[in-house]
Amino acid sequence: MVVRIITFSRNIFLPLTTVCHNRCGYCSFRTPVREGCVLPPGTILETVRQGAILGCTEALFTFGERPGLEPGFNTHLARYGYRDILDYCFHMAEKTIELGLLPHTNAGVLTYEEMKRLAEVNASMGLMLETTARIKAHENSPGKDPAVRIEMIENAGRLRIPFTTGILLGIGETVRDREESLTVIRDIHRRYGHIQEVIIQNFCPKEGTPMARHAPVDSGEMCGAIRMAREILPPDIAIQAPPNLADVASLVPCGIDDLGGISPLTVDYVNPEHQWPQIEELQRQLGNCRLVERLCIYPRFIEKGWYSPRLKPLINRLHQQVQERSKIREEG
Ligand code: SF4
Repeated sequence: MVVRIITFSRNIFLPLTTVCHNRCGYCSFRTPVREGCVLPPGTILETVRQGAILGCTEALFTFGERPGLEPGFNTHLARYGYRDILDYCFHMAEKTIELGLLPHTNAGVLTYEEMKRLAEVNASMGLMLETTARIKAHENSPGKDPAVRIEMIENAGRLRIPFTTGILLGIGETVRDREESLTVIRDIHRRYGHIQEVIIQNFCPKEGTPMARHAPVDSGEMCGAIRMAREILPPDIAIQAPPNLADVASLVPCGIDDLGGISPLTVDYVNPEHQWPQIEELQRQLGNCRLVERLCIYPRFIEKGWYSPRLKPLINRLHQQVQERSKIREEG
């Protein structure tokens, strides 16, 4: 019998700020500028230390896009001695590497130069394409212009940054739009070969948002989108579904082969009402599939040397560590 392998990364989630210049119709993550809107350095570094003790290998830096464009935000950031959120991200990523975790940053839309700089201290980076369609949910979100996001994903390819992207289902796009979004991702990957994984994420309605009364995506629709992704995308791209938002056991036959980051320590700040199942529980749900731990940079990109020289000793050490852990799990 062929054993299906499903990969995951053991991570911590660090929302540097919830302030964002966009106004997406489904978002409950974003907050206005207010007291406590920047995660303090002490909290970040303590979380990284605890994550390292728990065996985490990835620090996911996810935060609102261009928060500095929101009036008053930079005053809050200045308290910690930074003038720009990306300087803060860079410095916290440097500290995270010293403490033994690999940063993966998803900061929304970045320029070529900004990505080039952050790539020095990130093993991988990400940006959800979400959709190539122009939808109502994005009408007040300049960063969700599909052309802008496609350009960033292309720039990541030019910079040889191992990259995560994905589509968000149920936000007002059609099935045809999903097909087009996946085709665009495929075509970019054909040119640059840098896409590690594509997330197929289901919209979950949130109270207090303009889309609170919209229907969630059901498992049949999710399965259909995953099958479509498997058909369109080349086999070297993993297809990921988030195990805290969807019944992943039922989605394995549809074609998923990755679960993304799972944290033993932090919540999913974008969907805090949906707890991550823990690894043993997932293994139980997935039955005969084998859960295999990976880093945020996939093995083939480690082999190709697609990372900053500053990360080399840590990538080598953690790569060995997850391989040993997987072996112990397999034997156990
Ligand atoms: S870009 Fe992200 S954080 Fe900003 S409003 Fe949209 S979903 Fe929320």
